[in-house]
Amino acid sequence: MKVSIDRGTCVSCGSCWDTCPGFFEQNPDDSFSQVIEVYRLGGNIAAGQPSAGLEPCAQDAADLCPVQVISIDYE
Ligand code: SF4
Repeated sequence: MKVSIDRGTCVSCGSCWDTCPGFFEQNPDDSFSQVIEVYRLGGNIAAGQPSAGLEPCAQDAADLCPVQVISIDYE
């Protein structure tokens, strides 16, 4: 599973990091959501690959994002 965040459209509501704190966190500088460092793809803060155990909550976070800016690709 690959997860991408359109950070330019994130509204910093906090839902994703509340729903799936093992994978999402708030960027301390711009306040928007980002992927926790260990799961980033190529160092990109806006894209990552969760561990199998985190896939369900990452999917929940995508479903619950009020502005629908979290995209999931199943590979
Ligand atoms: S749920 Fe969506 S809008 Fe809210 S912080 Fe996460 S990415 Fe941003």
